[in-house]
Amino acid sequence: MDTIRICHLYNDILNLYGDTGNVVSMKKRLEWRGFGAEVTELSFGKFDTNTKFDIIFIGGGQDFEQGILTEDLFKYKADWLTGQIENDTTVLAICGGYQMLGNYYITDKGENIEFLGAVDFYTKASSPRMIGNIVYRTELNGGHNVAAFENHSGKTYLGKGVKPLGKVVKGFGNNGEDGTEGARYRNVFATYGHGPLLPKNPAFCDSILLSALKTHGVNDLSELDDRIENAALKNALDLYG
Ligand code: GLN
Repeated sequence: MDTIRICHLYNDILNLYGDTGNVVSMKKRLEWRGFGAEVTELSFGKFDTNTKFDIIFIGGGQDFEQGILTEDLFKYKADWLTGQIENDTTVLAICGGYQMLGNYYITDKGENIEFLGAVDFYTKASSPRMIGNIVYRTELNGGHNVAAFENHSGKTYLGKGVKPLGKVVKGFGNNGEDGTEGARYRNVFATYGHGPLLPKNPAFCDSILLSALKTHGVNDLSELDDRIENAALKNALDLYG
């Protein structure tokens, strides 16, 4: 079976609430099905932009970390990451990693931090922070609820060509106003869902994997014994409401 190459972008600086667990979940669910899974950690500095990846994962971070990585982002990663998105590489971006794909971020001091502009949305810091458990319904995989944790000051407003990842059932989501959560653009899956998200949302993890596996001619995945994962999801959904 093919080896799927996962890039963990800014692995050491964007990793709130166990976001690295998303990479572990994707790797294990590939290996349990007989695929190879190779994880490359890509933080600051130059790299060979011709390296091929099937999935790029970006975790969340506080404003401070987002501020210090922008120099590296624009010096070494911006053109490459935008090109990957436009070439339909699968991207999973969580919270701060999500925000960084948009046009800009207006901080609580009114500064306008320019971000990638690869996906049409913007984010504006707000107070009080949006913190708590979140449940949202996504139409992925025939439609299912996703349970996660959110903690962000940023309110994100999607542009015209960008669909939400889901609709908020409980919690704030993108901005606590329009009922949307996350963003979908080409093969980008972006969400405010921390936790880590994927270990207790196996159907969502498999949607991300299938998005990447399509380019390897694989359109369905064998069933796994998800009794533990689904028990964790049920517990979260029951708890979060
Ligand atoms: N610093 C951003 C905000 O507060 C993102 C936070 C996060 O990644 N959890 O909105």
